[in-house]
Amino acid sequence: MFIEKITMEELKRGLKNCKSIIIPFGSVEEHGPHLPLSTDTIQIIEILKIVEKEVNVFIAPTVHFGVCRSTEQHIGTVGISPNTLRLLTLDLLEGFKNQGFEYFFLVSGHAGKLHMFSLIEACESFVKRHDDVRVFVYSELDLIKDNLDGIIETEHDSHAGEIETSRMLYIDKNLVKGNYRKLKSDKPEFFPGEITSDKLKYWKSGIWGDPSKANIEKGKKTLALSAQKLIEIIKKIQKETI
Ligand SMILES: [Zn+2]
Repeated sequence: MFIEKITMEELKRGLKNCKSIIIPFGSVEEHGPHLPLSTDTIQIIEILKIVEKEVNVFIAPTVHFGVCRSTEQHIGTVGISPNTLRLLTLDLLEGFKNQGFEYFFLVSGHAGKLHMFSLIEACESFVKRHDDVRVFVYSELDLIKDNLDGIIETEHDSHAGEIETSRMLYIDKNLVKGNYRKLKSDKPEFFPGEITSDKLKYWKSGIWGDPSKANIEKGKKTLALSAQKLIEIIKKIQKETI
């Protein structure tokens, strides 16, 4: 159940049988010259539409902004700081706990390290405050990265490449602009361990992977795979608690 679509009464009734909530996270971030700035948000919502049909779980409105580091200088990227995301996440966790939720699944369509660490840090504070909750944090891409053989051809494809281009083609081909088949495979060339303020110098294209290998079928399969992983996790946790 998407919380933004239900009433106070429906939430009250639903909470009698279900104390699980998914809190989704996205980003406003460059996704190459061909994909929308909200790609991460669009794909996580699509995954959760599948999850919603299979599991009794509430789904919070998506937190649309995230922490973006390597893309922060590209046009279109508007991030928030790790501190802001941590405080916001903690407030949301407390807010949903006050409503009666006990099981929290934070699922992100954006997989940046600092972004994920901020979510984890917020959850660490939350579980220290409360011993009657269970909290889980996932980047949906990390959930499926070891299961992409036979679906995705590009090794380490992660940003605006084969996976995300395929997904946008599947969700709505009009979301993919220009001729993605002519785009070149690319990846960032940051010196290992270096923290640099000039990120564009090492990664102009904003593509990490190979968009030219994208197709609709790959999009459908990788979205379904992420949904399946989440369904399995939530069902397992819910079974443990019955
Ligand atoms: Zn993305």
